[in-house]
Amino acid sequence: MSHPWIAARMEHFDSSGIRKVFDLASAMTDPINLSIGQPDFSVPEPIQEAAVRAIHEGKNGYSPTQGIAALREKLQERIQKQYGHSMRQVFVTSGTSGGLVLALLALVNPSDEVIVFDPYFVMYKSLVGLVGGTCVLVDTYPDFRIDIAKVADAVTKRTKAILFNSPANPTGVMAGDAEIRALAQLAAERNIALISDEIYNHFTYDEPFVSPAKYNPQTLVIDGYSKTYGMTGWRLGFAHGPAEIIQQMIKLQQYTFVCAPQPAQWAGIAALDVDMQPHIDAYRRKRDLIVAGLSDDYEVVKPGGAFYVFPKTPWGTGDRFVHKAIENKLLVIPGQIFSRRDTHFRISYAAPNATIERGLEVLRKLAREKR
Ligand code: PMP
Repeated sequence: MSHPWIAARMEHFDSSGIRKVFDLASAMTDPINLSIGQPDFSVPEPIQEAAVRAIHEGKNGYSPTQGIAALREKLQERIQKQYGHSMRQVFVTSGTSGGLVLALLALVNPSDEVIVFDPYFVMYKSLVGLVGGTCVLVDTYPDFRIDIAKVADAVTKRTKAILFNSPANPTGVMAGDAEIRALAQLAAERNIALISDEIYNHFTYDEPFVSPAKYNPQTLVIDGYSKTYGMTGWRLGFAHGPAEIIQQMIKLQQYTFVCAPQPAQWAGIAALDVDMQPHIDAYRRKRDLIVAGLSDDYEVVKPGGAFYVFPKTPWGTGDRFVHKAIENKLLVIPGQIFSRRDTHFRISYAAPNATIERGLEVLRKLAREKR
């Protein structure tokens, strides 16, 4: 029975599934950990040095809510150059998660509907519930492509926003240019807010990254430093979109997160000049390694980005299969954490190649066991 003080909105959060995997991991000696959603490289030196310098120089207090001017100006200049939208404005958030929370709070009224693609990043469904919205799931199995007709069917008078993520967590799939254009146009025609979570935009392996903002200037983009620079613990992100919306988000930030950590913001300026391509190239090779290693035994969509693959289980439900994997010291995440379905599982290949090889060995063995 739950504690009488706990608010009803807490029902929207159930982290038990993923916690189970992490609890098992902490109790295990030498697990093969392919469950973690963060890069295995360290924060590049110039970024670390910029943060340390900021701390030593006493830049440790609150910053303006919208972020330090030097970072905002540098981001704004790049965004302006990329999109050329006169009304597009940027501000600095406490991670991409912070940007997502503010976006949903600023846009979604109770009983508004938000379209989310299934499988989805875990936070989406809970955050939509938190702000009182209704999540309308659009199924993208088996290829995780966006069927624009399905999206159009899901639109009702109550549809307020579409939450889009490419390259995607948990599938790694990158939407194609035509899909993105169609989605952007649909949102514009129906006057629906298109929220684009672009946290994996550097991790693209076959095609260049495309934002729906290219086709729909009203797109609200949520972006962050966590994955690109391996700085998940620094809590730095940014959001850009129509100035009026951004102003509302800044107002909310003032009363919630206050500001992103100031030393991280100074480091964020330095980060924009760091070339991450060698790391991205290494991740492309990891992607190739894992896809080649799985393809004989698993039904798997080759991912074009991020650092995840989302294969179908060769037998049993996702949950059952992942239990078996864990018995073999392999940590992966059951698909039902990200989906209405329980048929797949997520592998993160943000790990050393030796760990990926060990994981593949277990996965091939499990696939060949009859169940
Ligand atoms: N969006 C997606 C799709 C993610 O995978 C993650 C991190 N797992 C986030 C947002 C949150 O990232 P941040 O650390 O910037 O809050």
